[in-house]
Amino acid sequence: MYKSIVIGTGPAGLTAAIYLARANLKPLVIEGIQPGGQLTTTTEVENFPGFTDGIQGPVLMDNMRKQAERFGAEFRSGWVEQVDFSNRPFKIRMEGGDTLEAETIIISTGASAKYLGIPGEQENVGRGVSTCATCDGFFFRGKKIVVVGGGDSAMEEASFLTRFASSVTLVHRREELRASKIMQDRARGNEKVQWALNRTPIAVVTDENGTVKGLQVRNNVTNQEELVEADGVFVAIGHTPNTKFLGDAIRTDEQGYIVVKPGTTETNIPGVFACGDVQDTRYRQAITAAGSGCMAAMDCEKYLEGSMVHDWSETLNK
Ligand code: NAP
Repeated sequence: MYKSIVIGTGPAGLTAAIYLARANLKPLVIEGIQPGGQLTTTTEVENFPGFTDGIQGPVLMDNMRKQAERFGAEFRSGWVEQVDFSNRPFKIRMEGGDTLEAETIIISTGASAKYLGIPGEQENVGRGVSTCATCDGFFFRGKKIVVVGGGDSAMEEASFLTRFASSVTLVHRREELRASKIMQDRARGNEKVQWALNRTPIAVVTDENGTVKGLQVRNNVTNQEELVEADGVFVAIGHTPNTKFLGDAIRTDEQGYIVVKPGTTETNIPGVFACGDVQDTRYRQAITAAGSGCMAAMDCEKYLEGSMVHDWSETLNK
């Protein structure tokens, strides 16, 4: 049985693991299908403090993992199917049948990319449709690309993809962009980026050979359908928190983000803590995730030494 099991290995989970391991709690860290989390699909990270010239996302995550290992954190890869929170110790059932037991659990499973849910999308994932510019941009050298979305992710992906593409058309369903001004300005200042605003995506279109040839959209001003020609469609419309495997036991909001006691990482179940994007609807930055990972580990330590008051869980469970 483990004193603490951390589920998820983004900046939140790995920071929690570093703190728990340094506190001699020998945590087990469960790595899912994308060890290192979202930053492993990023290139340059320029806003993580301490790296004057920036650092590559995968390098940053690899460093955090090694740092946790150095202090004795144990790693195990696999998929958590279900967690039984009804008795103590908590029981984590892994895909394949193994069950792990823990006195405390830190949930840091992050959030996954959202899809549009339109015809032609799912069947072409990995064959012209992608949610990860840094993973797949390389395959579209000299080709036309569409990026869907109006937030910071879409601006970032559009700007990044101009390194490879002959042109990038940004398709957004409204006239106004949600993205921050600096990210908008960067994309707008890039002559390879074209704009198809006020367009709602309807379908990913392929030719007779099944090769993606563009995105069918509805022009919301004229109400006419149009084809935005492209060899690749990159969907950058936000993320969904990875909380389905938790069932109903852990309190979440209507979007599925875990609800924590404000200013802490306490969930509605004493001994279960949440950190990083899985509980963050506002900031969702690597540094805020890492900070909340530190908080989760410290909350966990406090709980294990018996000095935590559980008034929050009582309030929340009423
Ligand atoms: P977001 O801010 O939620 O933006 C999602 C965009 O996708 C919105 O423009 C939304 O349109 C559009 N959208 C959502 N569902 C759609 C659908 N079904 N069909 C068409 N369009 C759809 O998500 P994000 O851009 O991933 O950013 C998430 C957070 O991460 C933000 O806080 C952002 O600041 C941060 N972030 C920061 C950086 C950076 O600073 N380097 C980079 C990436 C992300 P509407 O606007 O019409 O709702």
